[in-house]
Amino acid sequence: MTRDLDALTGGTFDVLVVGGGIYGLTIALDAAQRGLSVALVERDDFGSGASFNHLRTIHGGLRYLQSLDVGRARESVRERRTVARIAPQSVRPLPFAVPLYRSLLRGKLAMRAGFALDRVVSASRNRGVPTSHRLPAGRVVSRSHAIQRFPGLRRQGLTGAAVFYDYVTTEPDRFTFSFAVAATGHGAVLANHVEAVAPLVDPAGGRRVIGVSARDMLGTGTLDIAARVVVNATGAGVDRLLKPLNTSTGIKMLKAMNLVTRRDAGDEALGGRSSTGRNLFLVPWRERAVFGTWESERVCDPEDAAVEERDVAALIAELNQAFPALDLTLSDITLVHRGMVPAVVHGDRAALDGHEQVRDHAREGIEGIVSVAGAKFTTARAVAERITDTLLSKLGHAPVPCRTATTPLPGGSVRDIGLAIADARREYDEGLPTDTIPHLIAAYGSRYLDVMGIAAGRPEWRTRIASDSPVIGAELILAARKEMAPTLADIVIRRTPLGALGHPGDAALARAAAIVGAEYKWSDERRREEIAAVERFYRGMSASARSSTSSTPA
Ligand SMILES: Cc1cc2nc3c(=O)[nH]c(=O)nc-3n(C[C@H](O)[C@H](O)[C@H](O)COP(=O)(O)OP(=O)(O)OC[C@H]3O[C@@H](n4cnc5c(N)ncnc54)[C@H](O)[C@@H]3O)c2cc1C
Repeated sequence: MTRDLDALTGGTFDVLVVGGGIYGLTIALDAAQRGLSVALVERDDFGSGASFNHLRTIHGGLRYLQSLDVGRARESVRERRTVARIAPQSVRPLPFAVPLYRSLLRGKLAMRAGFALDRVVSASRNRGVPTSHRLPAGRVVSRSHAIQRFPGLRRQGLTGAAVFYDYVTTEPDRFTFSFAVAATGHGAVLANHVEAVAPLVDPAGGRRVIGVSARDMLGTGTLDIAARVVVNATGAGVDRLLKPLNTSTGIKMLKAMNLVTRRDAGDEALGGRSSTGRNLFLVPWRERAVFGTWESERVCDPEDAAVEERDVAALIAELNQAFPALDLTLSDITLVHRGMVPAVVHGDRAALDGHEQVRDHAREGIEGIVSVAGAKFTTARAVAERITDTLLSKLGHAPVPCRTATTPLPGGSVRDIGLAIADARREYDEGLPTDTIPHLIAAYGSRYLDVMGIAAGRPEWRTRIASDSPVIGAELILAARKEMAPTLADIVIRRTPLGALGHPGDAALARAAAIVGAEYKWSDERRREEIAAVERFYRGMSASARSSTSSTPA
């Protein structure tokens, strides 16, 4: 993948997607795979917005059954299964245990009824899924079983536990990025660090959008990108792009947050309920405990995703109520995930809207632009399929079947992860850190050979960058050479999981900057600037934080 801005201005695309989060990327892939000419611009890096900050879980939509939203639950089951089919290396089954107490609506009886319905709704959850990824049905277990198997659950008043299974994404940012690779493979022209500033309107009159004016965030250039239809997939920025058109979606947003901690985690996700009634989860990810998801109770300014230290402190207090043995403190927090998600508003209270919002602005008399605000990472592909159907019809194109649910993503042709790891170990393990091969298979799937090819070039590219991370130098080189990662932050935070849990440490950062800098031939000054940009990303993210945090590189 190369960042070629000239390729964006050479002609008129069928579709220009603005925003390279999971929604924009899945739309770009689907539209390109169905034969449309596609461009995509992303202001920061691919997957650096809300899509970087999700709780890493791919849900089967059990919660939708509480409100008997069977359609939504079915879609979630289908999409969860799809991820296991098209990118099995990216996910693994994760048991969740939620404590049950005496309650009519949340007690054992209610959960048994919920699981009975779920067994029907999710009957096909394992169809076509590798054996290692088959998910058992949910069940209710006794108090003694719950205490024995899940000692972290709150015991006071405990009557048992609801145990169910979902997937956790092992390398979520590589998974998101694989849609960019796939879209490029189908001829889409993608560029990160390019901001769409305003829609271009047809000078011949009418209210028709014919592209966007954009600017290169790494240089000083501006560019006009022409397209027959623009898809506004800018997440929290959805209304900002529409401002020059004097319209808006009116979609309200609330703030959501997870805490990544330095605490070790076992093999199960645990649920807990705080005294405010919030359902919170401990999700094990990269052997650490991630807690979430907290959502603000009021609508927020979508342009201000900063999380105040008092919000973090309040969430810590709630977590300590929900998991009494936890004793979490601010000093345990290594990264704050946060982002904006669509909200439904009741009076002055806001709640998560589980439904994506899609607006074809033709309804307001503005042709050529469609906006989408995604609600769930899990269901982005399905939403992209519906939007691409709309795009084909808007463009007067004959219907073309969608294939994104059945075509493996790049690297996703691995069917047996255990076997792939064993084969790779036999062939390449010598001299590599012990945890590197499993990491490479999870991150790159069958494309791990690209990393091995580079690793063969120099012994120092076969060694770790940080003592507590399996990432090796060759991955940084691959990102720089082939994965459109022009900044150190792109490489350290998203193309590799070197800094995914928090600041990787000064020595590791300097080492990464030296490797990437040598590849890009950066001057010493440029190398210092790149390190400073990574530092800005982490500044304020941990216990010693100032009063607000940001997870977006400045
Ligand atoms: C804390 C948290 C926890 C969550 N947990 C889960 C979970 O466990 N499971 C789940 O399924 N979902 C979860 N979600 C929801 C999920 O993360 C989102 O629904 C999804 O990531 C939204 O993707 P998106 O592409 O719409 O937005 P984003 O990922 O925000 O992408 C929008 C992109 O547009 C870019 N952009 C903005 N303006 C411009 C412009 N003018 N020009 C160019 N680019 C622009 C931004 O930089 C950004 O990268 C969670 C969300 C949060 C915040």
